[in-house]
Amino acid sequence: MTDTYAVFGNPIAHSKSPRIHAEFARQTGQDMRYAALLAPLEGFTETVLAFRAGGGRGANVTVPFKEAAWALCGRRSARAELAGAVNTLKFDGEEIYGDNTDGAGLVRDLTANLDVPLAGRRILLMGAGGAARGVVGPLLEQGPRALFIVNRTADKAMTLAAAFAGQGVVAGGGYDAVRGAYDVVINATAASLAGELPPLPEQVFAPGALAYDMMYGRDTPFLAFALAQGARAADGLGMLVEQAAEAFFLWRGVRPLTAPVIALLRAA
Ligand code: NDP
Repeated sequence: MTDTYAVFGNPIAHSKSPRIHAEFARQTGQDMRYAALLAPLEGFTETVLAFRAGGGRGANVTVPFKEAAWALCGRRSARAELAGAVNTLKFDGEEIYGDNTDGAGLVRDLTANLDVPLAGRRILLMGAGGAARGVVGPLLEQGPRALFIVNRTADKAMTLAAAFAGQGVVAGGGYDAVRGAYDVVINATAASLAGELPPLPEQVFAPGALAYDMMYGRDTPFLAFALAQGARAADGLGMLVEQAAEAFFLWRGVRPLTAPVIALLRAA
């Protein structure tokens, strides 16, 4: 019998995940189907449980349900526990297991695809929402010299940094607290969605710095600003494919090749 998986979100029609997982399945010869399913804003849990009752084996979860997915799980990976958000569910009998593969996806895109080592580097992470929460732990595991989390609402950045104190050199604050130049500047805010640029100082990029926008599929003011300051620029398409590959590995025990899938999506 063909195993079924899905991604739940609201909205969801734009999702590239079905295409990505179909490519992974074809490449690795896995017998599975993967659909994009809309969950009502007030009915996420019921929708997921109905999918499981119908034979679903696992699911991805996207905006705005990652916290609700966390709450639904009976068991979670350490990285999901720390992130307070779950983007991957695995159904094992009665148990719902939750993982968060966003951070691993970002780190893999940065280090393997973009060839940017993070150990000993200065990293600036913009945003303190769900996406930022998921990546702080995996970024710190790489041993950066310092990680500064900056957010429009400064308190949220400070609280997030405090939650990871002891796991590395990490601090948080508002944009007026951004000092010095960074080797890697990551935009995990929703500002690009609104065509806005967070108020970064012009000298924020160190020589050879990488600017990374988690947003993908369009030119963003942040990447335009970075290019104008002489930085390298990358969007979040690679992260999207890499987090999907982590989820695929959790479900199927096989690691798909990501480079051909990233190339395919770029060409489309
Ligand atoms: P949330 O709504 O949880 O958080 C939004 C964050 O953006 C908050 O920190 C908010 O600050 C900040 N923000 C919003 N507007 C502005 C602005 N105009 N200027 C400065 N800061 C702003 O969203 P998520 O964390 O879930 O998602 C953030 C982005 O990451 C989205 O664009 C999403 O598409 C992308 N993403 C990409 C992934 C990928 O695989 N490539 C995976 C996950 C997310 P405040 O707290 O002050 O409101």
